[in-house]
Formats: sequence, C-alpha cells, structure tokens
Amino acid sequence: MAGILLLAEHLNGAVRDITKEAIGAALSVKEQLGGPLVVAVIGENADAIANAVDLSGVDEIVTVKMQGDHFDPHIYEECALQLGMKYKPKLVLVGHTVNGMACASAVAARVGAGFASDVLALSADAGTVVATRGAYGNKVNLEVAFPGREIVVLALRGATYPIPEGAGSAKRSTFEVDLGEASKAMLHTGYIEAPPSNIDISKAEYILSVGRGIQEKDHLPRFEKLADRLGFTFGCSRPIVDSGWLPKPHQVGQSGKVASVCKVYIALGISGAVQHLYGMKHVDTIIAVNTDPEAPIFNVATYGVCMDLFELTKELETQFN
Ligand SMILES: Cc1cc2nc3c(=O)[nH]c(=O)nc-3n(C[C@H](O)[C@H](O)[C@H](O)COP(=O)(O)OP(=O)(O)OC[C@H]3O[C@@H](n4cnc5c(N)ncnc54)[C@H](O)[C@@H]3O)c2cc1C
Repeated sequence: MAGILLLAEHLNGAVRDITKEAIGAALSVKEQLGGPLVVAVIGENADAIANAVDLSGVDEIVTVKMQGDHFDPHIYEECALQLGMKYKPKLVLVGHTVNGMACASAVAARVGAGFASDVLALSADAGTVVATRGAYGNKVNLEVAFPGREIVVLALRGATYPIPEGAGSAKRSTFEVDLGEASKAMLHTGYIEAPPSNIDISKAEYILSVGRGIQEKDHLPRFEKLADRLGFTFGCSRPIVDSGWLPKPHQVGQSGKVASVCKVYIALGISGAVQHLYGMKHVDTIIAVNTDPEAPIFNVATYGVCMDLFELTKELETQFN
C-alpha cells in the first residue's frame, strides 16, 4: 500500500472547491506516503471535468465513465473499492461533505480501513497517517492514528487547506468499473436548484440565529433588522425554514449549512438540538439566550443568558439604534 486516491466531487460539470483543497491536503503528505496522488473523476462527462483537477502535484487522473454526472453513494463506493484494488493506496481522501460522508465510511468498513471524518489537518510520519479532528464540541483537537490499519479513509473538512497553485501535467487514464447491483440501489430523478440567495452561512464570521423561541413569523423582521444593525448574518434553526418563514440558505445545522469560520454566534430561542449544534461546532464564541436553564445549548455556550429573548432584544435595539 502506498500513495493516495482522491475521489473528486463535481456538480453540474464543475469540480467543487473541496476536491481542489483535498489535493492540497494530499500534497502535504504525498512524499511521506511514498506513492502517487491519483485523482478519480466519476461520471458521464468525467473527461471534461478531469481538466479542472489537473493541478500541480497530481500524478494521475483516472476517469470512470458512468451514466449521468450525479452523485450516487453506492456507485462511488463501488468505484472506490475497485479503484483501490488497482492502485492500492495507503490513503483514500474525500471531502467532508454530504456526498463524501455518504460513501466514505462504507468504503472504510468494507475494506477494514481506519476512518476519520471532519479532518482538519493531516500528517504522515514514516508512512503512518495521523488525522487531526475536533472533539468535545470542538473544544479540543484530537490527533487520531490508525494502528494496524493498512489503509486509511479520511473525509476532509472544507476550507482547511489551500488550493494548490499552478496547472499540472498528470498522466491520464481510464478505468472500467463493474457496478453489479450498486447501479440499481438508487434512481436519480433530477436536481432542484435552491433559490438564489446572498446569504452564505459557511463564510459568515458573525451570525445571529433565531429559533422556535421567537414564536411567530411576524417577529422575524425585528431580528433580521437587529442582525443587520450589528453587522451579523441572519441565521436560523430548521423549524424556521420548515415553517416557510426563511429560505433554506439561512439554516444552520446538519441539514443546513455549517458555520465554518464563525467567530461569534448569537443563538436566540434555540434549544441546541444535536443537529443544530453540528452547524455551530467550529464557532469560537457562542452567546445563547434561552428561558430554559436546562436547554442543551447552554452546554456549548461560551456565554449563556437565561432570560426572555424579547427582553434582551429590546435592550439591544435601544443600544444599537
Ligand atoms: C435528520 C435531521 C436533520 C436536522 N437538521 C437540522 C438542522 O440542520 N438545523 C436545525 O436547527 N435543526 C435540525 N433538525 C431539527 C432538530 O432536531 C431540532 O428539532 C431543531 O433544531 C429545534 O429547533 P429550535 O431550537 O429552534 O426549536 P426548539 O427545540 O423548539 O427550541 C426552542 C427554544 O426556545 C426557547 N424559548 C422559547 N421561548 C423563549 C423566549 N421567549 N426567550 C428565550 N428562549 C425561548 C425554549 O426554551 C427552547 O429551548 C434536524 C432533525 C433531523 C431529524
């Protein structure tokens, strides 16, 4: 086992940044892992898409022709396994994205590989991979080693490694995969584009989010205005989106967006369900306002305020008018 196999992610014909960042991450350990960096592009237009991953330091780009360019976890899983048999990589890299997470752990389980998700740094010493990831609500960083595992599968967090500069001159090859039953597991019926939005929770440094505690849709403009005045991006919990009060791009959490670079997060009337906390795990400072002293949000809050959010908002409105 040597080298790195990276599964490229693409959408509507464009390679996603996470794949280019993962190339950057792979290059940081390529030498120590003593083998090539192979990037696999899977899909109907894999050849055209492949050009975008030909970055400096990539040794080989292998294209796997499939019907359609959509992501199907079963197909990617099967491709990863069969590509793995050919290239025998020490490290398999994917993005820590909805797609990556849908196939990476399955690949690891099927080959008995070591596995870590949400990896924010990797290193390798004498051919041994070490991954760094957060723990205890990201309060500490853990270095995870994989003793006894010949292969390691890692899902890399976005925006942690820079995209390598400069075009590469990677060898091009093609690979045929026998999908067997994997092709029948899911039926892709099409994409539904989210409505355009100028909100990007993943890039916001300051976020003010509201939850079900605000009680009524009519109260929303007040908090939106306050967020605006403070210079904060306006976020929310899922029930606010599910009720149709705010569009999806505002949603923080597991099925919404992760506040990846947020320095200060104000949570008003949000209980702190695990799915919401998932979107806040990288936040430096959390200020939570909730009337319930037992609300789980207080377990992760840097500053907890146990009071009526409307009272606090009134005070803030007076001060920031
Ligand atoms: C697969 C899956 C994915 C999910 N993904 C997400 C996700 O991405 N994001 C997400 O947010 N949720 C997600 N959820 C839903 C999640 O489990 C919770 O239901 C949701 O986060 C709760 O939202 P909330 O905190 O706004 O509401 P609640 O849990 O109802 O909390 C409201 C809080 O407001 C407080 N409150 C009430 N009145 C006041 C007041 N006047 N002043 C101060 N505090 C007050 C209450 O004490 C309470 O703690 C997901 C669930 C599933 C199953």
